[in-house]
Amino acid sequence: MKTPTQTNAIDFDSAKLQRLGFGQPSLRPHSPTTLAQLHQQLNQQLQTSLEPERILGLFLRETQRLVPLDALQYRHQASDLRLELGHRGHHCVSYTLSHEGEHLGELIFRRNQRFLEEELSQLESLLATLLFPMRNALLYRAATRTALRDPLTETGNRVAMDQTLQREIDMARRHLTPLSLVMLDIDHFKAINDTHGHATGDTILRAVAAAIKSQLRNVDMVFRFGGDEFLILLSNTGRDAAGLVGERLRQKTQAQDYWVGETRIELTVSLGCSTLLAAESAESLLRRADNALYVAKREGRNRLAMAG
Ligand code: GH3
Ligand code: MG
Repeated sequence: MKTPTQTNAIDFDSAKLQRLGFGQPSLRPHSPTTLAQLHQQLNQQLQTSLEPERILGLFLRETQRLVPLDALQYRHQASDLRLELGHRGHHCVSYTLSHEGEHLGELIFRRNQRFLEEELSQLESLLATLLFPMRNALLYRAATRTALRDPLTETGNRVAMDQTLQREIDMARRHLTPLSLVMLDIDHFKAINDTHGHATGDTILRAVAAAIKSQLRNVDMVFRFGGDEFLILLSNTGRDAAGLVGERLRQKTQAQDYWVGETRIELTVSLGCSTLLAAESAESLLRRADNALYVAKREGRNRLAMAG
């Protein structure tokens, strides 16, 4: 008996059996054709995208023709992926997707009416169509994420930064929301390298990146801009709020303990902050943050300067 919140596992072998028409003893007489058509349609449609959100959106839309659903949640921890489509309902049923032992995520379907046995059986059968498309989408996501990340600090690289900055500028324009940018640079980092060695310098860079990320809601907005320089994008954040975030970052990166063996390394950072002006380009926004950072350095380091 399936009850709301029950967790089920779908693996490829049982899913394949269901695709061939086995394993659903309690379907309504007219359902098999509909189910078969839906299978065929989903098999074709879901192949057309490598985006998890689009694949699940198509799945939800098409499946609703047979099994009414209000919402779908998806989570795949290993790729840090969480999606929510539709509105929540009281009743839910959850499934774990896997293929030959490879975990492909958890799915929760919600709606306001109870799920009937036969509907669950149809849903389970249709889930088989998600296996290959989702596996491909997760592989693609992993590959593109690798190409966009700085391997040392686990932050975005310059390519990612360029893409994200342009996207955020476009969004800010479209929705008339503010956008700010913080450039953070470790003070006298060269001295840390010279005194403690390059490997220790690397460890410090990783620790500083982790400290920055721990202070932010959206870790996808942190980028390594250069050697010891990080860029943080603050969407929907105006000048005053960005100043507060910048100051918090300054304090937290300084307060963090950095140990090399028994030695505690002290460090400070300097920051420059700019807020998008009307019709401003990405280059200009970056340049103003960089200029502000230069002012912070010149005025004695361990401080935040706001672009004019
Ligand atoms: P300032 O306060 O003016 O920023 O001084 P600084 O010494 O931090 O600035 P500078 O730009 O002179 O030095 C940055 C140093 O960062 C120089 C370079 O050797 C070091 N660096 C760049 N990339 C890496 C890296 O990946 N690992 C390590 N360990 N060091 C790096
Ligand atoms: Mg520096």
